[in-house]
Amino acid sequence: MERVKYSVVVPAYNEEEVLPHTHKRLTAVMQGLDGEYEIIYVNDGSRDNTLAILKELAKDDPHVVAIDFSRNFGQQAAVTAGMHRAKGQAVILIDADLQDPPEVIPQMVERWRQGADVVYGKRKLRKGETFFKKITSKLYYRLFRFLSGSNAPLDTGDFRLMDRKVVDEVGSMTEHNRYIRGMISWVGFKQEPVEFIREEREYGETKYGFHQMLRLAIDGIVGFSLKPLTIAIPFGVFLMAASFLALIIEVVLLFTGGLYGALYPLLTGLFFLMGVLLVILGILGGYVGRIYDEAKARPNYIINEIISQKEED
Ligand code: UDP
Ligand code: MG
Repeated sequence: MERVKYSVVVPAYNEEEVLPHTHKRLTAVMQGLDGEYEIIYVNDGSRDNTLAILKELAKDDPHVVAIDFSRNFGQQAAVTAGMHRAKGQAVILIDADLQDPPEVIPQMVERWRQGADVVYGKRKLRKGETFFKKITSKLYYRLFRFLSGSNAPLDTGDFRLMDRKVVDEVGSMTEHNRYIRGMISWVGFKQEPVEFIREEREYGETKYGFHQMLRLAIDGIVGFSLKPLTIAIPFGVFLMAASFLALIIEVVLLFTGGLYGALYPLLTGLFFLMGVLLVILGILGGYVGRIYDEAKARPNYIINEIISQKEED
């Protein structure tokens, strides 16, 4: 039997300090596995010596593939490029900064061997991250789940192992605002967690500013939920109902000679119309959402296996 091959995909943006360490630790882990391996580094338009270091690594080590971007396209694009290039039957995504410990990979491989198609790293503990980052990330993943109605795993990053079939499905999706962890969860198959302790970043600083973080967060929600588009509908319905109620009260007041202002019906009418507008806006949102869905052109379904006695050619 042919030996299996593993691919590791590592996005790197200004990671000159850490890369030599990353490569050492990854290599030690990958050599301990039962198959061939390749490590694909993607230089995402770094402004430091990352590219030079990667060239050096590629020269000394035949396992290394270095992809150099023409400019910074962002981590999600870098990961996508690595996935497209990966040849292995199992592909592992891992950050360059060693916050995702490479030593967890053998456990992921073990799960994959036992039949899992996706093994995602679940952060049990996050070291050295600010309280702000921890709390926003916790809240975010829950909001994401609520809005997208998906059961995407909580508290995970991009650290995961995927079977070839998952890599092919995600790789064939052409949408531009990519939220990889969401897409991987979306394709389905058998997905299992492996817990790990997220390490502190020892070398260099986070490459995600607040702005980039926010953008990724928005890509996640906008890419996976159409709920924000129709959010106006319940408000509109509420306004319409409330103004209808107000109208009844006004009529009663008018006939019982109670306190009555001439502007009341005018205001009520205005509120009613605002309600109508909000509902129409939400309906429009529904159509826009469908256009958006069609534009993303994701597959309608993904088949895991076809079981039949007939041989297909
Ligand atoms: N990264 C990238 N392009 C970017 C930003 C980040 O390829 O524009 C890489 C970075 O080199 C690292 C990974 O994405 O390997 C995660 O980034 P970082 O560690 O800065 O994010 P954090 O762990 O702070 O969320
Ligand atoms: Mg990091």
